[in-house]
Amino acid sequence: MKLEGGCYCGAVRYVAEGEPMMKAQCHCRECQYISGGSPNMFAVMPVAGFSYTKGAPKTFTRGDIEQPVTREFCTECGTHLATLRPGLPAVILKVGTLDDPGLFGTPQLAIFTVDKQPFHHIPEGMPSFERMPQR
Ligand SMILES: [Zn+2]
Ligand SMILES: [Zn+2]
Repeated sequence: MKLEGGCYCGAVRYVAEGEPMMKAQCHCRECQYISGGSPNMFAVMPVAGFSYTKGAPKTFTRGDIEQPVTREFCTECGTHLATLRPGLPAVILKVGTLDDPGLFGTPQLAIFTVDKQPFHHIPEGMPSFERMPQR
C-alpha cells in the first residue's frame, strides 16, 4: 500500500510505500506526551519505501537513556511524524499524520501496557503486551 501524509501545517510531507510490518497502539509514558495522553496509534513501515517529499523534520533523541528512539517532528507546527528505533529498518509512522487516517484500519495489538492509564481503552480480545512482544 501507499501511504501519504504530513504535518499539521504542511511544511513536511512524506510518502511510505510497502506493507505495514505492524499496526499497533502504544501505551508507554513517552508516547503519552506526544499523543496528548491517549495511546499512540502507529504503523511500522519498511524504511526502503519511506521518504520525505517536502521539507525536512527536526530530530530529537534523548541522551539520558539506553537505546533511545529518534523522534522526527516539524519545526514549524511541532507535529510529531515518525519515530526511528535503533536497529530496526523501519519507520514508525503516527497514524494521525496520514492524509487519510482511515487507511490504518485497526491496530492489531497493544504494547507497553505497563504504563497504561485508567482512561486508555484496549478493545476486548486484542493481544496486549506489558512491553514489546517477544520475537
Ligand atoms: Zn508543520
Ligand atoms: Zn510508546
